[in-house]
Amino acid sequence: MRCPACAEAELVPCADLGAVPALCGVTWAERAEAVASPAGPIRLEYCPACAHVVNVAFRPELLAYDGSYDNSLHHSPTFRAYASDLAKRLSGDYRLAGRSVLELGCGKGDFLRELCQVAGCHGTGYDASYQGPEGTDGAVSFVPGFLPLDGSHPPELRPDFLVTRHVLEHLTDPYEFLVGLRALAGERETHGYFEVPNASYDFATGGWDCIYPHVCYFNAESLRAMVSRAGFEVLRIDTAFSDIFLSVEVVANRASPGPTAEPELQVAADQRGRVASFGERHPQTVARWRMRIGALAAGGANPVLWGAGARGVAFLSAADPDRALAGVVDVNPHKRGRYLPVTGHRVTGPEGVAALDTRAVILTNPAYRTEIGAALAEAGVEAELLVA
Ligand SMILES: [Zn+2]
Repeated sequence: MRCPACAEAELVPCADLGAVPALCGVTWAERAEAVASPAGPIRLEYCPACAHVVNVAFRPELLAYDGSYDNSLHHSPTFRAYASDLAKRLSGDYRLAGRSVLELGCGKGDFLRELCQVAGCHGTGYDASYQGPEGTDGAVSFVPGFLPLDGSHPPELRPDFLVTRHVLEHLTDPYEFLVGLRALAGERETHGYFEVPNASYDFATGGWDCIYPHVCYFNAESLRAMVSRAGFEVLRIDTAFSDIFLSVEVVANRASPGPTAEPELQVAADQRGRVASFGERHPQTVARWRMRIGALAAGGANPVLWGAGARGVAFLSAADPDRALAGVVDVNPHKRGRYLPVTGHRVTGPEGVAALDTRAVILTNPAYRTEIGAALAEAGVEAELLVA
């Protein structure tokens, strides 16, 4: 397979992670149902030219992006603060007042609502898992479903600004999607903000973002290559949220000087090496965490994982398949008391953490370290924080 990002080289195998929970954004009321939920294979190949990574074993039929898919991070104050700062910055940099914003994959619409409120723009959001009221909600309209990018979109849809966050990595053909977005801009000057997980962070660390719904893994170089090839001009590439996210800001039909500096490429020089060695390193990382959890449990520390999102589910299925942990905590109230896919861990809310009597709390996302530390202090729990 030729690299879908840069199209300059054939992909080369780099890691086989076996079968992992396919529905990592879903929880179940019964443990038996959670344990019986499907697993899907991850077999990664990478591009020797731009280090883009693709799960070549991905089968879309295992996934359903319906109302049961809850990947909302908006229950976390840390994430809300990040999204809020981003909305303010985009609003100012791109003078969005009075403009029209289109967000594809808007989830529950939290970011689009905030952007429209902060910027005084109007927005349209599409998402297959959107469950709120349809139609117009103030300056924002929501459509549950996918926007057709084959030219059959509503003719009144003429966005000045395109937003898509954590969508590209879920698509079997993100290049085709970007070409469709570029076509939507037509001849009009149209800016865009596209955000994905930062594979440079992930392949250098535990690799907990290797989850079934991620068909591909972008680094700064491969993201730039793909959006450029789709016909956008790159204005800026940056990382955010403790380096875990990667974003690119683009323009089509540029008519005015860019609002931001020349692109700064922040791709790690050894990204190719990290990706190439991931298949060897990952099993070692997993083995170390299994031993550590076993030792903590044997020593009476009652180890707990904080964070039952996709990264948490990836960690659990790799490092704690036999449920040696004393518990899994998450701030999302919709997950509380429910069971996680394949491993069947039960999710506890923060109010239940004191009863777990833990002295070791594992987190898979360092961006939440301060927030989790504060929640533990509030619960009167003294525990060591361990970043996996
Ligand atoms: Zn490539």
